[in-house]
Amino acid sequence: MSATTSVALKSCPLYIDGKPVISAGPKDVQYNPATGEAVAEVPQSTPEEVAAAVASAHKAFPAWSKTPVIQRCKVLFKYRELLEAHVDELVALITEENGKTIDEARGSFDRGLECVEFACGAPTLMMGETVDRVGTSVDGWSTRNGLGVCVGITPFNFPFMVPMWMFPMAIACGNTFVLKPSDKVPRTAVRMVELAYQAGLPAGVLNLVHGAKSTVDLLLTDPRVKAVSFVGSSSIAKYIYQTSANNGKRVQALGGAKNHSVVMPDADMKLTVAAIMGSGFGCAGERCLATSVVVAVGEVADPLVKELVRAADNLTVGAGCELKTQMGPVITHEAKKRVLSYIELGEKEGAVLARDGRKDAVSKSAGYFIGPTILDKVNPASRVATEEIFGPLLSVVRVKDMKEALAVIDRSEYGNAASVFTRSGGAAREFTQNVGAGMVGINVGVPAPVAFFSFSGWKNSFFGDLHALGKDAVHFYTEQRVVTCRWPE
Ligand code: NAD
Repeated sequence: MSATTSVALKSCPLYIDGKPVISAGPKDVQYNPATGEAVAEVPQSTPEEVAAAVASAHKAFPAWSKTPVIQRCKVLFKYRELLEAHVDELVALITEENGKTIDEARGSFDRGLECVEFACGAPTLMMGETVDRVGTSVDGWSTRNGLGVCVGITPFNFPFMVPMWMFPMAIACGNTFVLKPSDKVPRTAVRMVELAYQAGLPAGVLNLVHGAKSTVDLLLTDPRVKAVSFVGSSSIAKYIYQTSANNGKRVQALGGAKNHSVVMPDADMKLTVAAIMGSGFGCAGERCLATSVVVAVGEVADPLVKELVRAADNLTVGAGCELKTQMGPVITHEAKKRVLSYIELGEKEGAVLARDGRKDAVSKSAGYFIGPTILDKVNPASRVATEEIFGPLLSVVRVKDMKEALAVIDRSEYGNAASVFTRSGGAAREFTQNVGAGMVGINVGVPAPVAFFSFSGWKNSFFGDLHALGKDAVHFYTEQRVVTCRWPE
């Protein structure tokens, strides 16, 4: 998509040592996905700028880690207040950068805020363990301590929420942080960092750099960086995992997904269709928990496909900033081309095009829109059924029973989420106990754990040991010191 560079583009500063910095690096252009217009210039940080950000975090660590945890959390309490006071501005920014509808942006804001609230519990979450008299006159106890400089590398699909999975808990635990947001949606992160400093964060505790591979590589190889949190596609997640580990860092790398919704013949049709529409087409199918494959069991297939097509026909697709919009655009022109190529592929692979979103008028506008598209009678071994598409394209696979449905899911290289729709407790139990995915929904289309649980993808959806959020996050961002102490009685 060509840019109209005559329009004044918004700038996108780095944040180093508590101050905004205009990068001296080369600039890329950011486009508004709903209009295709150029909106901002996104810098690729220079190696010197990346080194300065890490140095600033490294310098800030000793004082911050020794600041009482209650004081650290007071800053987070204030941060929460400020975020809430700026909700409309942040929601509008998320919508402009990412294309989400206002409701979706607000939902993702709320889930991000929840992570700050969870991090405010650090005084309790960081508690160690004590055993009196592990020996005569000897006591033992453990404490949890910050690691040092932690790094976060985040994807485009949740500009606000995913960074919130990382830095609030990291800094609550006494670490300092360098955030490298997606180069496709960097401006929400700038505002998040600005507000954190307004809340009273000492200089250097949270730094921000922009860029892509070369910036990330500098962070992964810097010996001052102790831990790396990554969320993005699986191939990059694997690379991050291997490179971070080779450089002696602890790492959690969350990857891509191909999520299934199994619909049993006894499912409540109205609830199921609403949930699958929300999961498959919400956020234009660009959620890591989006349903991409509907597995229809037995005789439910025909009525289910009919109802899904009817609901998709009634979905209002358009710019996220318009209140009536129910589904926005995908992120880039390239993403649109990729999704369109999968629709063609699905037809070539023998699927039946139950609804062709390419024919919707909005698909021909300047923004990166694709109308909701449904492929029926998809072969479970085909590429559309197995590869991550990340767009508003739903595949329906027809199977005869639960056993066959579980086998379809088992075959997937991914294991992020899977849902079952049924009225039967027995079927739900069979599903939850046997399904090959780490986040499971029962009559829930997007089984995103609340912040007190961990975001627990399996297989190629996660590389590492300790997941994001929940107690795993506290353990990931701390190391234990175990004290054995003798005092004569
Ligand atoms: P991406 O992998 O292209 O980019 C993620 C981050 O990595 C960005 O900050 C990007 O600048 C950086 N990056 C890109 N190429 C790199 C390279 N070669 N080396 C080092 N860093 C690089 O992902 P995306 O397109 O921004 O986001 C969508 C993907 O994220 C989907 O696959 C989705 O499933 C996944 N995702 C997963 C979860 C989860 O919880 N598992 C959550 C959200 C998104």
